[in-house]
Amino acid sequence: MIKHNSGQPQVEVLIEATAAFFVNWPCLAAFNTASYTENVEDSSVTTPAHFVQASELARSARSEEAVAKHKKYLWPSVTNYFQQPLVADRGEMQHLWDVEGNKYLDFFGGILTVSVGHCNPKISSKVTAQVNRLQHTSTLYPTEHIVALAEKIAQITPGNLQQSFFTNSGTEANEAAILLARMSTGSFDVVALRHAYSGGSALAKAVTAHAPYRKAGVISVGISHAVNPYCYRCPLHLKYPDCEVACADDVENLIQTGTSGNIAAFIAEPIQGVGGFITPPKEYFKIVFKIVKKYGALFISDEVQTGWGRTGKKWFGIENWEVIPDMITSAKGMGNGVPVGLTVTTPEIAGSFQGSNIATFGGNPVTSVAAKATIELIEEDNLLENAHVVGTYFRGKLEELQAKHSLIGDVRGRGLMQALELVKDRKTKEPAPEAATQVMERARQNGLLIGKGGLYGNTLRLAPMLNTTKADVDEAIKLLDKSFSEVKQ
Ligand code: PMP
Repeated sequence: MIKHNSGQPQVEVLIEATAAFFVNWPCLAAFNTASYTENVEDSSVTTPAHFVQASELARSARSEEAVAKHKKYLWPSVTNYFQQPLVADRGEMQHLWDVEGNKYLDFFGGILTVSVGHCNPKISSKVTAQVNRLQHTSTLYPTEHIVALAEKIAQITPGNLQQSFFTNSGTEANEAAILLARMSTGSFDVVALRHAYSGGSALAKAVTAHAPYRKAGVISVGISHAVNPYCYRCPLHLKYPDCEVACADDVENLIQTGTSGNIAAFIAEPIQGVGGFITPPKEYFKIVFKIVKKYGALFISDEVQTGWGRTGKKWFGIENWEVIPDMITSAKGMGNGVPVGLTVTTPEIAGSFQGSNIATFGGNPVTSVAAKATIELIEEDNLLENAHVVGTYFRGKLEELQAKHSLIGDVRGRGLMQALELVKDRKTKEPAPEAATQVMERARQNGLLIGKGGLYGNTLRLAPMLNTTKADVDEAIKLLDKSFSEVKQ
């Protein structure tokens, strides 16, 4: 890492970064002036609350050693949840155990990645068999497994999204989607949304619209951000439905003013995940889709968090907004924990890829088996319906909690993807990030794992597994209620 004014934390250092783009679009050679802030803690990931009494949690030499070595041997930017990090030991369906033997009801699943249960035996057995038979070939050889997964995906995707490209992560999935959109349309500009999270590569960071993930001079040439449909904190200071979803029109205004007028793609998450489960009104994506088509662009739905039934009823979140996208990207819950990335599109768009394409690990036999087994389990156990039914039940219970605890300013989400945005005062809506951390810490001590997010670090993210039951929800609500009651304001 480049050090500037070391010893002076929080010092804004302006660096001039000259970036030459050697891409297929020869007109592009750009200069970027970036602002670089040192040592900025990412409050949306972890905010030390100084709340947990260390003595309250039993510690063992095992966890102390793991935490100490994590500190010593991993980049400090790889932050952990909790003042006293949880060193996970084993998982079984909706439960996780730490090395001290404490049992937790897991309502976050990693980060919405364990979609159908930790070490679900129906999946693990197939993965284990495949590990012992054939682990790797690269994309240079077709396997029955990559083909079977791609065929399964083609059966459940909306519209004519029939051809897949497999990678290892959501970041790569989004990279591939934008690259292909640029090749397919011959345009370069991409429109994304503020508060988006797209991944950790240079391009994905440029699409991401959260300052903590954009440090050290993210080069955003060709990427513009429209205001997002954040009804609780409307960027246009309007109120739904009287607003007539005016935020959607910003996409057109941005295309006309912030781009060349021709864009390659619009990319968005149906529900902004890292952003704090920001859930657009029902009309939003239909309006945006029309605008995107008017300008000859492709609509990319980033379903890294919202895919595979998470939002209930439908396989993909965007279907709940009645839009059929040109491309879907996904990862996380698709493989119930194995590293997998997907970019699926129409044969016509896929066929416009120029040059060669390769992914050493993409679609390898083991991940392909895991992902297909996950999708089949979701299908066989009718989990799209379960996510809707249990998700609706969960939502009702969360609204009851809101009525009881004034900290909860907003309840939002869809299906089994629900969030609580915490505020100090419901009128001023001043964010309450410390309280969010405290609730998380208390929940952990009470035996419930939940996540956090949002630009202000004040949103609790709740995403139980797709095969969660109403009894699990009742248990989680009881523990949440207790946790909120224990938080000192
Ligand atoms: N898109 C979205 C919506 C995500 O939530 C994430 C990860 N949080 C990514 C892309 C990047 O995925 P990965 O971490 O697998 O690269």
